[in-house]
Amino acid sequence: MGYDIERFVGYVNEGLLCCICRDVLEDPLQAPCEHAFCTACIHGWLVHHNNCPEDRQALDMSVLRHLYRYMKNDLNRLQLHCKNGERGCEMVCSLESIDRHERECEYSQIPCSNAGCPVQIERRNLDSHLAVCEYRSRECPNGCGYTILRAEDTQHNCVAELRTELELLRSEMICRVEEAKHEMESRLDSQRRHMVQKESLLQNEIEELKYRTKRKTRQGGDGSAVMRMWTWT
Ligand SMILES: [Zn+2]
Ligand SMILES: [Zn+2]
Ligand SMILES: [Zn+2]
Ligand SMILES: [Zn+2]
Ligand SMILES: [Zn+2]
Repeated sequence: MGYDIERFVGYVNEGLLCCICRDVLEDPLQAPCEHAFCTACIHGWLVHHNNCPEDRQALDMSVLRHLYRYMKNDLNRLQLHCKNGERGCEMVCSLESIDRHERECEYSQIPCSNAGCPVQIERRNLDSHLAVCEYRSRECPNGCGYTILRAEDTQHNCVAELRTELELLRSEMICRVEEAKHEMESRLDSQRRHMVQKESLLQNEIEELKYRTKRKTRQGGDGSAVMRMWTWT
């Protein structure tokens, strides 16, 4: 969509008008037949057509080119009014710099900078709106550390806020302690199982040793046992 021709100061060469919207070229492209269009306009046209809207010569996206440099220069030098003219902005500047002006124009509608606020306001009135915005916030003057939204100002109760936070912290803490306990228990449990296994292994070894010692004593017919019996009697 082109720039409304009504916004321009002085004569605009017909060659700088879009063949589709008939306004001044915005982001222009040129066909081999030298007809020029706004990018958005010709893209829209070529969805359902395959020719130039002006002379019906065959045309597709791939043959569109940038505007001749001299035409681009003429276009950039055109003088026009800011789009916020109806709201009171009296700015007139070149097409080349109009975007930069409109981004910063004091008459442009912008959203309030407070999160959640639905108000759209002219940039020049933002400060006075911010002073009364329902979504402005401030630190609690009693020092509880909470940021209070203007809309909740009267309902703010430091004690209630802090109690809720405390409850939250408490239940979080209990949760964490339970978790730690659970982990410790399962670790102890596995250690216990390990010990029991080891104990039974050791027990087996002891039995085995006892058995072997007994056999050796018998086989050896060794004197010591006999001697001991002697000394006892
Ligand atoms: Zn156009
Ligand atoms: Zn053409
Ligand atoms: Zn302006
Ligand atoms: Zn606001
Ligand atoms: Zn407070």
